[in-house]
Amino acid sequence: MIDAHTHTKFSFDGKSSAVDMAERGKELGLEYMAFTDHCDRDYAHIWRYKIVRQLNVKKYVAAIKEMKEKYPFLALGIECGYSELAENDYLKMIPFSEMDYILNSVHTVDGLDCYTASYFSGREKKDAYGKYLHKVLKSLDAKYPFDTVTHIGFVRKNAPYADASMPLAEYIDVIDEILKKIIDKGKTLEVNSNIKYKDFMPTAEILKRYYELGGRSITFASDAHLTARVGELYDVASETVRDIGFRYWTVYRERKPLHIEI
Ligand SMILES: [Zn+2]
Ligand SMILES: [Zn+2]
Repeated sequence: MIDAHTHTKFSFDGKSSAVDMAERGKELGLEYMAFTDHCDRDYAHIWRYKIVRQLNVKKYVAAIKEMKEKYPFLALGIECGYSELAENDYLKMIPFSEMDYILNSVHTVDGLDCYTASYFSGREKKDAYGKYLHKVLKSLDAKYPFDTVTHIGFVRKNAPYADASMPLAEYIDVIDEILKKIIDKGKTLEVNSNIKYKDFMPTAEILKRYYELGGRSITFASDAHLTARVGELYDVASETVRDIGFRYWTVYRERKPLHIEI
């Protein structure tokens, strides 16, 4: 069992300490667990979100490096919130050579957080989802290094529509472009279970499409922000991807990919 995306109290929204999270990982017998605390410089460039506490990268890196000695299954990761304005910040502030693993994610579009009501205000679903997906496509050309593309479909999490689904057929042009680019660039696609609907980010339908296009590199992510949710839905996710044809998870140590049987 693995969990390649978890948050600790180093993140502004983390609820459990790094030690408690690692102890939970140990209890569950995780073969691999990545701490991927938020580096949200995307918010730092939006005035109304400047209040979000930013990660102390130096303290975080030093603390997790030390913890890895006691918890060898741990990996030192970071989640970069993509925005064109934040790219140079990441290049300057993240010691990429010391990291095991880098996540690239999209949380903001048009200067608004896709998790908040203001993003959806006055927008049709097609426009709200389409703009988000185009931002994900753009994030794949980020200037900074990264390994995995995180939670595609994040925009659905708090969407106010009666039907918040993102059917592949309606967005296939941009989704195909994203999936092909992930494959061409040798990146990994994350299967993120932190969503209230009975599926994942991305959905099984999109994961199947990725497989059809030749994609094989996926990883499992609970995106837990507290101990109780570490590894959540791992079994369901494993079964879903095994049914599609995937045979291994890809995880990273010192930025090098390793395969772990599903
Ligand atoms: Zn995220
Ligand atoms: Zn996260």
